[in-house]
Amino acid sequence: MHLLDLQTPALVVDAALLDANLRTMADALPGARLRPHVKAHKTTALAKRQADAGHRGFTCATVREVEGMAAAGLGEDLLLANEVLDTRRLGAVVRGGARVTLAVDSPETVEAAASGGVREVVVDVNVGLPRCGIDPAAAGELADLARSKGLSVRGVMGYEGHLMLRKDPAERAERTAESMALLLAAHEDVGGDLVSAGGTGTYAVNTWATEIQAGSYALMDTAYAELGLPFRQALTVLGTVISASAKWVVADVGLKALGMDHGNPAISGAHVHFCSDEHLTFTPETPARVGDRVRVLPAHVDPTIALHERIHVVDGDEVVETWPVDLRGW
Ligand code: PLP
Ligand code: MN
Repeated sequence: MHLLDLQTPALVVDAALLDANLRTMADALPGARLRPHVKAHKTTALAKRQADAGHRGFTCATVREVEGMAAAGLGEDLLLANEVLDTRRLGAVVRGGARVTLAVDSPETVEAAASGGVREVVVDVNVGLPRCGIDPAAAGELADLARSKGLSVRGVMGYEGHLMLRKDPAERAERTAESMALLLAAHEDVGGDLVSAGGTGTYAVNTWATEIQAGSYALMDTAYAELGLPFRQALTVLGTVISASAKWVVADVGLKALGMDHGNPAISGAHVHFCSDEHLTFTPETPARVGDRVRVLPAHVDPTIALHERIHVVDGDEVVETWPVDLRGW
């Protein structure tokens, strides 16, 4: 199939750029040094590529992602790096033979893990992001509680998400050191082998974690592209120009086809004005005509992909594979 045959808006991934991103990361963080986060792409076919690159353990954000990864034969070592209270379906995945480790940060989540049939946990520690994670000083006590309920405690995790998009690399590195000092202090009290942390923004400067949970690196977005990391934007949303005036042009890639929380998308050689539900209004440097195709670069990869049913992998203008975004939903 040719790119022009795709119905728009359509998610398109450049095969060569994806392969280069996977190789670059596998060279920097080989094997178990990287635990790729599948929430970025929600696609088991892409996770298989990451497994082929040498990474056998994965990070997940939802029960659905854990189920889908296990069903796809990628359940060797799945870390659900999130708090879960309804663990019934996770227990079923464990009984089915997959290895599932669940993050806990409260007595309630420990209880949910134990009663739901989950056998292994990590203590999620707050390292500065105002989100999940227990106070570092209380981590050891929570680990003791988990062990008293028969759970095996594999270690700690702590996501320094508030630092990922810091522009100044020196500041990013310094603040990561501070966050990881909190995590390592908690690890002393918790025990276990795992210190799981990090993301695409800190993969190179977080030298304290035993494994890095990066996900965006595979496909990238304009927010991460601004950091000057050695990964290229492999993901675009293909659109069609549906209307054109002397001053602006409109494509059929609106905010229902794009994650917008990191701002407007970009179009190479054009100025993007705004998105509405089904429309993207922009001014190209060279005149565009109704019917032209346009490649839109999303500002945030994860919520963009979660809006689409499939990813088309292209080699130049040829669609070489189509992957279902099969880990969507809850
Ligand atoms: N770990 C956790 C718990 C996350 O929530 C995220 C993303 O938000 C990541 C790791 C890393 O993702 P990214 O590669 O997008 O920085
Ligand atoms: Mn993200």
